[in-house]
Amino acid sequence: MNVEQEYTKIAGLIAGEPNTVAVTGAGISTEAGIPDFRGEKGIYRTLGENKVTSLLNISTFRKKPKEFYSFYRNYMMMPPVKPSRSHYLLAKMERKGFIKAIVTQNIDNLHQEAGRRVIAIHGNAERFVCTGCYTTADADYVRNYPETIPKCPQCGGILKPDVVLFGEPIQNHRLARDTIISAQLLIVIGSSLTVYPLAGFVEGYCSSGKKLIIINKGSTALDHAAAIKLETERSGDALDGIYKHLIEKNWEV
Ligand SMILES: [Zn+2]
Repeated sequence: MNVEQEYTKIAGLIAGEPNTVAVTGAGISTEAGIPDFRGEKGIYRTLGENKVTSLLNISTFRKKPKEFYSFYRNYMMMPPVKPSRSHYLLAKMERKGFIKAIVTQNIDNLHQEAGRRVIAIHGNAERFVCTGCYTTADADYVRNYPETIPKCPQCGGILKPDVVLFGEPIQNHRLARDTIISAQLLIVIGSSLTVYPLAGFVEGYCSSGKKLIIINKGSTALDHAAAIKLETERSGDALDGIYKHLIEKNWEV
């Protein structure tokens, strides 16, 4: 099959299935300029996995907040970027009813900025929450805060990034699991499906024989289970191709 035929085939599957769910990972945001932490130049490789998992850890945050925030400010607080074509295309597909829900591992807020609500399981790096009174503050407040450890504007308590640190459970666990497992068509975009528990949800979905579509650069842990695997440098091109077929055929639902 050439790539156009694959787009047509995927579009046909999406058009015939109202309960289509998309799962997205870092690959969709690298196109927007966000580094993939687990990629070749990501901090997991450059600093080593042990260092990252011990610093981005809930116990380091609690016991050594200054150490935590020195690291966090250096490596995790990126200058703001705009959503990629993939984010906008997925938002459009959801708005038109082709996709029922988006579950993401990303913490960059780009799906939300592209105009959609998502089920974010690793939190949102644009938001900080007070550990004392649960007041929230945005990333700009923290960026501009005069000290390393940002304090709550209301009560002076320490703010915590609203992202899932090592040692913490994922957010929206049940909703994400139920949404993925009960989907009738699942499209994974930009994830190598190696991070649990999300990878386990996708395995659970696959175990009942439903079709899995994977759009990714490089191999994933579930390639063997995919009905269609699209290997692509840019998921935006693939989503654009699929979306054109959906619109041309008037497959709007
Ligand atoms: Zn507070």
